[in-house]
Parts: sequence; structure tokens; C-alpha cells
Amino acid sequence: MAVQLRYQYRLYPDEAQRAALARLFGCVRTVWNDALVQVKPVKASNKLLGPPKARTAEGPYQRVPKSPDLSRELIAGAKKTPQREWLDQVSAVPLQQVLRDADKAWAAHEDSKTGQRKGPKVGHPKFKSRRDHRQSARFTANAKWKITPAGKLSLPKIGDVKVTWSRDLPSAPTSVTVVKDAAGRYFASFVVETGDEPLPETTPEVGIDLGLTHFAVLSDGTKIANPRFLRRAERKLKKAQRILSRKQEGSANRDKARVKVARAHAKVADARREFHHQLSTTLIRENQGIYVEDLAVKGLARTRLAKSVHDAGWAAFVHMLEYKARRCGRTFAKVSRFLPSSQTCSECWAVDAPKPLHVREWTCKACTTTHDRDVNSARVVLAAGRADR
Ligand SMILES: [Zn+2]
Repeated sequence: MAVQLRYQYRLYPDEAQRAALARLFGCVRTVWNDALVQVKPVKASNKLLGPPKARTAEGPYQRVPKSPDLSRELIAGAKKTPQREWLDQVSAVPLQQVLRDADKAWAAHEDSKTGQRKGPKVGHPKFKSRRDHRQSARFTANAKWKITPAGKLSLPKIGDVKVTWSRDLPSAPTSVTVVKDAAGRYFASFVVETGDEPLPETTPEVGIDLGLTHFAVLSDGTKIANPRFLRRAERKLKKAQRILSRKQEGSANRDKARVKVARAHAKVADARREFHHQLSTTLIRENQGIYVEDLAVKGLARTRLAKSVHDAGWAAFVHMLEYKARRCGRTFAKVSRFLPSSQTCSECWAVDAPKPLHVREWTCKACTTTHDRDVNSARVVLAAGRADR
């Protein structure tokens, strides 16, 4: 089975290349906004006619223009007008791509409204601004981009940009997105199609409890804390935020402090991703079966506690475990049925009373085994995962 993976690397464009990228981001933004100007009124007037099923193709209902129609008018046509002739200065591929992205964004919004798309609500596409925190442009396979023998990323009408190859690309990428983030850093994000890479079979299986006191606790009793490099990045972020909060609104110093906070945020995100990669790779390599508690179920148990950061981090980590397991031929399952893992004894399966979070150790009244709360949870998850399989 082919899996699409993203590989991201830092880019270091020189001054001329940064100017060319700014021009490209600007053109991409313009084409996106021009497309919105065309599509929005059509959608709005169709909406007045009632739900899609009640409409007929005739009458006042208007066909919504899609990327091929828009491409003719907003790219090829626009280049011949004095107002948009500068679109010719950049590669046309990212411009066509952003129109396809707009199609997808509308589809996602509509499917989300009708309930065909699961997950959080997707709003309608919005106008892009030069002040947006993230600027990007995507080059697909038909754009003439390549990785040079010297290891630079050669982009049409931009030049050969320096790349830091922090890890190997497993195979030839099908597309590359160039991104500038809020901290002013540049990245190349490659999409790579990889086949399965099954690992030799092994026997151990593991249950994982994602916790608040440790990042993860394993059914074999191992407790995994957040690594020092991540804690250090988090401390620096807190400090930068404190400094920012003391700066006066609208001052030049506040602007500087804001960039520092953005940089610190980016460092924390990088450190966290790196840690998740390391840990998930190790767990997949060493175990044949990997089981975690479903986060939605877990969420119920801790409603108010330190939700945002932890939940986002766990979800990304669980996703990595899932795709790596699939690629490597491992069994992975989220234990999704309702399971009071912190109340169930992993020795005799008696269900004990609910326990407040500060209780780190408890003794089963039925079999008198004393449990570490988190290790017991991980063991219950392991047993439940095995039973469901
Ligand atoms: Zn017991």
C-alpha cells in the first residue's frame, strides 16, 4: 500500500531568492483572492435558492466556476492585462495549484456543513493577506523543479536554494511546498510516496498510557518524560512570552518581542515533533503490537486539566504511531470502548472506585495487588487491545 508522507527541511534563500519568493507568495495570494471574488457571489446567490437538492440546473441557479475555468481567466487571461501582467514573472504552476487548493477548500467547507466530512468544522475559504503568518506556494511534478547534484533545491524563476537535509528523503518526492512561517523561516515540505517497509516480526506487545505526570507510561513499567531539549525550548518560550507581556502596545520593542515569541513557538514545535519521531520509531521497532487508549475517551476523564497543549501533542504522536505501524507491518489499535483504565485492576480485573488524579498508587481491594496508577492503566490498555484484536 502506498502511503503519502511529508518531509520538511529548512531552506536558506539568499537575498535575491527571498525577494523572488516574496513575489511568488504575492502572486499566489492574488490568484487565490481573485478566485474568491469570482466564486463567493455565485455561491451566495445560489444559497438564496435553497438547499442543493431543491435546485434545478436551469433558471437562476448558476454554475460555480472551478479551477480549470478560473485558470484561463485569472492566470492566462490576466497576464495580458496591465493590472496583472506581473503574474508572468513567476512560475505558473503554483498559481494553478492554488486554484485547485481553492476548489478543495470549498469542497471541505461544504462537506463539513452537510456532515459528510468528520472532525472539526471547516469554515469557508478566506481572503489571504500579506500579513498572514504563513505564506506558501506549491510546485507539483509538472513544474520544472529539482534537487541539484550539489544538494540544492532548484525552483523555476527563483534559483538554486540552499537546503539543510536533516534526514534522508526515502524516495523521489512528487511535490514540494515552499513555506515562510511567522518566525520568518523558510521550509521546503516534500510529499513522498513510499511503499510498505515491513520490519522483521517480533513478539513483544505494548500498552501505552499517555499521561500528565509523564508523557507516556508503558505496560512494561517504563516511564517516559518529555526530553530535556523540549523542556528547555518550553522554558525559553515562557520567558519570551513574559517579556512580550511587559512591552507597551504598539511600540517597536513589542514588535521585536513578538518575533522572538514566534521563533520560540517554532522551536518548541520542532523539538516536540523530533521527540515524537524518535519515540514512535523506537516503539514500532521494538513491538509487534502497539495499543493506546482512545483520546476521546481519555478526554472525558480529565475535562479541565491542561487540555490544549497535551491533547494536540498526543494526537500528533498517536497519528505517527498509526502510520508507522501500517508501513512496518505492526498491529496498532486505539482501545476505543469505554474503559475505566485507571479504575480497573490489571491483575484480577476487579473495578475499583474512581480515584482523584493526585492518587498515584492504589491497592486492589479484591486481590490486594498494589499498583502504580499509570503502569496499571497501560497494562489494562494492553490487555484490552489484545482482547479486541
Ligand atoms: Zn485486583
